Amino acid sequence: MTTTTTPRRLLPLVEPEDRRESPDWVRISMASALALRMRSGRFARPFEFGGINLLLNYASGCRSDCSYCGLARTRPGTYEDKSFIRVEWPLVRTDELVGRMARYEDRLTRLCISMVTHGRAFPDTVEITERIRARVSTPLSILVAPPTLDRNRLEIFKAAGVDMIGIGLDAVTEDLFRHHRTDVPSGGGLSWEQYWEVVDAARDVFGPWKVNCHTLVGLGETDEDMIDLFCRLAERQIFSYLFSFNPEPDSRLGDRPKAPLHRWRRIQLARHLIEDEGFGRDRFRFDDDGNLVAILGPVDDDVVERAVASGIPFMTNGCPGPSGEPGCTRPFGSYRPSEPVRDYPWPPTPDDLRRIREEMRLWEVYPPAVERRR
Ligand code: SF4
Repeated sequence: MTTTTTPRRLLPLVEPEDRRESPDWVRISMASALALRMRSGRFARPFEFGGINLLLNYASGCRSDCSYCGLARTRPGTYEDKSFIRVEWPLVRTDELVGRMARYEDRLTRLCISMVTHGRAFPDTVEITERIRARVSTPLSILVAPPTLDRNRLEIFKAAGVDMIGIGLDAVTEDLFRHHRTDVPSGGGLSWEQYWEVVDAARDVFGPWKVNCHTLVGLGETDEDMIDLFCRLAERQIFSYLFSFNPEPDSRLGDRPKAPLHRWRRIQLARHLIEDEGFGRDRFRFDDDGNLVAILGPVDDDVVERAVASGIPFMTNGCPGPSGEPGCTRPFGSYRPSEPVRDYPWPPTPDDLRRIREEMRLWEVYPPAVERRR
């Protein structure tokens, strides 16, 4: 007698990568994976790290096509293999991640979900927010994808327990935005007007100093463009968070050089003076090409020197932790480990500060710094 058995379909031990999508799966930055012990390794220089950055994950990827972005639709390679701000983003189960966050909550400073432009991004972000909020109370930001949002959806984020909203404006003028983000090869361009509608709505819904715009130094803007935007945002009690353009290989801007270090340092300092010391546009002088040529400090109170000596302007600029300390510190978001540190995830040491002063060459634009150099 012969018996026949119906072949049983075995469940795969590991879900195929293309089914590991949000909301059940998310990507996290490698630094976050190290902090939560979900990957092994350590930083070359030890420091406390508690900013956890999540990124939605879809097999079909992000629908946008920005010239500088590692996730851009027309950048070669599969979505899974793409990097984002030049950092590797391991894929993890959302529930396992939330469990790790709960376990290490006492060392966490800020959580952030980065949306991508995708039809499911909004409901999935709400779902992930709810799963996090059920177990972890560390302040949570959303780095939003404006094409997926309107005012009502921002109100839903707030009701779900979101603390701050980030808008990745990146390009600081309308012309640059159009060039890098609207007129794109795939045709799926973004709208400057719609980004600002979301900035306005977020400011209304979340209130003063609860909204930020990410700004990218090195897309072709002038110093004057940057400083104008910092002043406009600070007047509305909206933070400007600084990022240094960092070319992603094979992106359309893959061969573009980064902003020179002295320029980057001066812009870091200018942003700090505007946001934290109340400097207005009248304290800065520019040449005909929009280059910063002078900072005018108060005569009897050397705010500029105090700011430099504090090291704070040169630390990573991001959403704060529960007590106002730097919360989102994104190590290596703006530079490779082999390159000079662009923004410090730790308070700069005296050696770091000596290096920063040499890199910045402040004496070229701020005469009192000449004296100090002697
Ligand atoms: S600064 Fe960090 S936490 Fe804040 S929105 Fe940007 S990525 Fe998110």
